[in-house]
Amino acid sequence: MKTVVIEPGSVLGVLGGGQLGAMFTMAARRIGYEVAVWDPDPEAPAHCLATHSFPVSFSDRHILERFANLVGVVTYEWENIPADLCRKLEQRKPVRPSSAVLTIIQDRLEQKTFLASNGFPVPPFTTLTSPDQLACTVGQVGYPALCKTATAGYDGKGQWRIVRESDVEEVKRALADSARPGMRWIVEALVPFKRELSILIARGSNGESCTYPLAENEHHEGILRITKVPAAGAPVAAERAAILARQVVDRLEGVGVFCLELFELPSGELLINEIAPRPHNSGHYSLDACSVSQFEQQVRTVSDMPLGEVRLLSPAVMVNLIGDDVASLLKGAVCRSLLDIPGAVLHLYGKRSVRPRRKMGHVTFLAESLDLALAHATQFRDGLANDPTKTV
Ligand code: AMP
Repeated sequence: MKTVVIEPGSVLGVLGGGQLGAMFTMAARRIGYEVAVWDPDPEAPAHCLATHSFPVSFSDRHILERFANLVGVVTYEWENIPADLCRKLEQRKPVRPSSAVLTIIQDRLEQKTFLASNGFPVPPFTTLTSPDQLACTVGQVGYPALCKTATAGYDGKGQWRIVRESDVEEVKRALADSARPGMRWIVEALVPFKRELSILIARGSNGESCTYPLAENEHHEGILRITKVPAAGAPVAAERAAILARQVVDRLEGVGVFCLELFELPSGELLINEIAPRPHNSGHYSLDACSVSQFEQQVRTVSDMPLGEVRLLSPAVMVNLIGDDVASLLKGAVCRSLLDIPGAVLHLYGKRSVRPRRKMGHVTFLAESLDLALAHATQFRDGLANDPTKTV
């Protein structure tokens, strides 16, 4: 792979200006880069941190020219940006991870097929091309199953559980109501996992890579709520996850930061739920708890700088602030009691509108032991849950 060192002072381009783009921008600027943010939403939080801001539709061809002329390299903050835009930009400047990697990852069927055909462990799955075929398709993986849109789903959106045969009719109707021509779904066996884990890996264009500690995640309604690092009692799982992450990202020839979301089965076996071709919510702890954050590592990998040495400086528990959590927090008493907890680090993303299920910020709790960090996180979450004025 071609090595093009992008020196500090150059402009890094990022597609998408949400919280991940914003944290990338802050990391890049801290080590001397300029950043061009392209996001159609003028209120996307990264715009006001960028040195160059493009609040314009991704289909604007003139902006594509200007953006490509300006930047030394392009990356993106999430996988649902148009792969076609990446392909066009790639004719002019390196895009990392490449548009070929993005194309595999942004379609769940392509991604799972890639993983399965390369011998990586994934839940049993099959393809659904018409809601009418649902019963027969679920029959192939067995009950209970989960049906997901092949593209554009995230945080549990576009997912339907089919626990028993009697659920099929209702899910069929829901699929038909939201179907577009040519749409496909993936039907997966619902895995009886013991816990959900994730691991970050950064890989440079020379093939060097480094992994982060294994993280343990708790989700509610498909959204990540809590990440604990390092995952409890898991040297074997951590080693297995790191090997898996290296093999997958090597096979993809991916350059950038990736996250593998994993299911740990009661037997200890790990299955890959999905790969993110970018920093991940479960890696936010690295901002406060590691020698180099996932965002700085993204900057380093895409600009062909050396990878940072990853060291976990403290056990950490990361708590997401979702929807109206933030409104509660901004009322003095809750914020004051949070900031009074030793080792609590607050990050708010600066999003103007509060919506249910929207990620508004996070708090990382650092402590000498994971148990103490968890106790502090629980104390904080109880305070939020007991806020009587919370509505969303
Ligand atoms: P996803 O959008 O695929 O990351 O799924 C969101 C959440 O749904 C995951 O973090 C799991 O909690 C759950 N989930 C997704 N796929 C499966 C599966 N095949 N079996 C069990 N739970 C799943």
